[in-house]
Amino acid sequence: MQNLKELEAELALLKKYPKENLERIIKEVGFSCTCCGKCCTKAFNGHVFLLAEDARRLRTFSPESLMPAPDFPYSDPSGNFYVSGYALKTQENGDCVFLDETRHCRIYDQRFTICRVYPYMLHREPDCRGKIDWRQISGLDEHGEYDHLISDEECAEIARQTIAYETTFLEQEIAFHKAILQKFSDDGVRFVRKDHDLRLRAFLKTGKATVFVWDGSGFVKEEV
Ligand code: SF4
Ligand code: SF4
Repeated sequence: MQNLKELEAELALLKKYPKENLERIIKEVGFSCTCCGKCCTKAFNGHVFLLAEDARRLRTFSPESLMPAPDFPYSDPSGNFYVSGYALKTQENGDCVFLDETRHCRIYDQRFTICRVYPYMLHREPDCRGKIDWRQISGLDEHGEYDHLISDEECAEIARQTIAYETTFLEQEIAFHKAILQKFSDDGVRFVRKDHDLRLRAFLKTGKATVFVWDGSGFVKEEV
């Protein structure tokens, strides 16, 4: 988990990234989705993180499909955990709760921002040698088809949606970190990594915890 300064630096870099570079890469790769459904399975994506606006929308038609996103980065001395958003619940096999037995999305027309943007992305990640650089397409050569013709207009629209998603994601993370710093300061408590690791270990054993989830404007208390 990145700290506030690192997240703000990432957002500043993202804002400087030339949109035409992303458009060019989209055009060159020519990715075409074959609707195989792999990206909705545990094998491809550990969990599907939702932007706050998507979580709000999901709450209106299937609130039981929300869960606090895993990997809680903070906890307080009372043992409460904090996380920056919600994720989609999974089935017993780890696949998305909305994936049906024929590997199709049950709510395709209502699917979420990340489901629409995938596999496009625009954030910096280390490669297998640890070199950090921009990544634009997830799981390149592991799914879909390539070298299809994509019109300039479509490339521009994919790039626009991808950058909008990544910007909103970083803004949500930054807002969460600022809210945590403010809350801990107001409560006069301090985050202690060692204690947090012990709490996480206890949670892994019991599977039970109180988690405060950032919903874009405040924390929502959830019991897991
Ligand atoms: S909501 Fe639909 S498209 Fe999105 S991960 Fe789940 S099954 Fe896939
Ligand atoms: S985006 Fe890729 S993994 Fe997901 S359905 Fe399309 S081809 Fe399959």
